[in-house]
Amino acid sequence: MTKAEATGMTEAAGAAEAPKRIMIVEDEKRIARFLQMELEHEGFVTESEENGRRAYERIVQEQYDLVLLDIMLPDMDGLEVCRRVREISDVPIIMLTAKDDVEDKVNGLDIGADDYLTKPFAIQELFARVRAALRVHKANEAGNRDERVLAVKDLVLYPGRYEVRVKGELVELTKKEYSLLEYMLRNKPNVLTRDQILQEVWGYDYVGDTNVV
Ligand code: CA
Repeated sequence: MTKAEATGMTEAAGAAEAPKRIMIVEDEKRIARFLQMELEHEGFVTESEENGRRAYERIVQEQYDLVLLDIMLPDMDGLEVCRRVREISDVPIIMLTAKDDVEDKVNGLDIGADDYLTKPFAIQELFARVRAALRVHKANEAGNRDERVLAVKDLVLYPGRYEVRVKGELVELTKKEYSLLEYMLRNKPNVLTRDQILQEVWGYDYVGDTNVV
């Protein structure tokens, strides 16, 4: 079995989650290495970057679960990286600030950082902040999904509940059918008729009683 297949099965079964990926943006190699070592020991997958501009590019291109962001960096400082990332991503960001620099902390939070840690910090405190930020992010995402009920005419999909109803009647769907339907409703809700949905999701020209679905 390939790694991808194993991961897919795990997700389908709702079992253990994949390791969280953390990007460490820090130009002091000694600190970056220390953070990588400690976080990997805790079960996180880490990458590090010492240049602010490159860090920004990697953060917006890759899917990280969390970013640890130093402020004084070559080419682009951490505050600017944070501000730009926030324009397009809600990835949790924890700023690493110099001792007693209140202005940096305030600025960081103002431009969308989720939290900050003052250097030097205890590694246990970093773990706690990382776990808290991941928890909050996950709760927010779940909340957002739950709120948006997707509907076309009398077909309604409830994202938080993995439920589809037609005229109020619960419809049995496989996981794949459900995913395809959710994708279509999210991406082109206004151009689909119910017949088109039936045809696309179930892959054939449906004739007969559409109430069955
Ligand atoms: Ca630095």
